[in-house]
Amino acid sequence: MQFIDLKTQLKSIAEDVQKRIAAVIDHGQFIMGPETKELEQKLAAYTGVKHAISCASGTDAILLALMAYGVGPGDAVFTTPFTFIATAEVISLLGATPIFVDIDPHTYNIDPTKLESAIVHFNHQSLQPKGIIAVDLFGLPADYHLINDIAAKHHLFVIEDGAQSFGAEYHGKKACSLADIGCTSFFPAKPLGCFGDGGMCFTDDDTLAGVIKSLRVHGAGAHKYDNERIGINGRLDTLQAAILLSKFAIFPDEVEKRDKAARTYSDLLNSGRTDLSLPLFMNGYRSVWAQYSILAGDTEHRSRIQEALKAEGVPTAIYYPRPLHLQKAFSFLGHKPGDFPCSEECSNRIFSIPMHPYLEADDQKKIAEIINRI
Ligand SMILES: *Cc1c(COP(=O)(O)O)cnc(C)c1O
Repeated sequence: MQFIDLKTQLKSIAEDVQKRIAAVIDHGQFIMGPETKELEQKLAAYTGVKHAISCASGTDAILLALMAYGVGPGDAVFTTPFTFIATAEVISLLGATPIFVDIDPHTYNIDPTKLESAIVHFNHQSLQPKGIIAVDLFGLPADYHLINDIAAKHHLFVIEDGAQSFGAEYHGKKACSLADIGCTSFFPAKPLGCFGDGGMCFTDDDTLAGVIKSLRVHGAGAHKYDNERIGINGRLDTLQAAILLSKFAIFPDEVEKRDKAARTYSDLLNSGRTDLSLPLFMNGYRSVWAQYSILAGDTEHRSRIQEALKAEGVPTAIYYPRPLHLQKAFSFLGHKPGDFPCSEECSNRIFSIPMHPYLEADDQKKIAEIINRI
């Protein structure tokens, strides 16, 4: 059994993918070719955002967003420690300081109450709060009504790390359209993945879009060899754009299939148990189920479940086994165990089971039966 089954997905579009790849090889515009523009137009329309700017990875998307706001040394950016390293890494890469805020243990996303408290009680004298990066973990959007209100009150920007949530919805709006700048990733295992690295920034703001486009190509001005600012080489390959066009054609259908698979898991798993915490289906939210993640009773219980599943050929994963504030890379921030108790507890108890649009009913039944029995 596959944790994420990309082979089955490819079967249904193989011919179209081959045709599109051949077309790119034929026209030879490997950098910023016509497929790149077409993809940007299609994803802008899908998310309802004015500007979609493709880039080389999800990490670059967040990096470009922060650079567009001029984030640098002396700046503080609030984010969660229960996420993939890239979210906070790019803050530090620019010389700014990530300020961690604990998560809501039910949604795994940044807790708006704790966020406001962290902003109000901010007392790092040498740092200036600039913005917030909220993460839509496992495909479930964070609570942007509250987050955007808090940000507006304190004059902070909001970046949506939608690397896992492209295709999700929040109160009728699509993920990546929920903050000042939305960022996503096309890493193969993400809900919409390519055959390598890729990413995209989304914004309604004309000025920010212009700056991001410039930053993506070495800070270029109107002319290619006019350099207005320090940028990066952050473009998406035309070949990846072509592959994404193929995959995007079946994506809305896949989003429905993911939703159905997640509901099936939740129906089959024993929700009456106090030692298992299943993901939430909340009014106004529609996750894209990048992961179906469950909290076991404790670390030992989690190990027993994972072992039992493994014994029957079912792969599992732990996202994330160590929150960022306890990673060596962030030891310079001086955090210790106990600083963000919800993130730490989730790290100790969480595990994810196979999740993709092509899950078989029998496999889901088997997985649920094993978990229900442990
Ligand atoms: C995958 C991921 C990223 C980084 O995306 P890449 O395309 O791998 O660079 C950033 N944030 C989160 C939450 C992710 O899951």
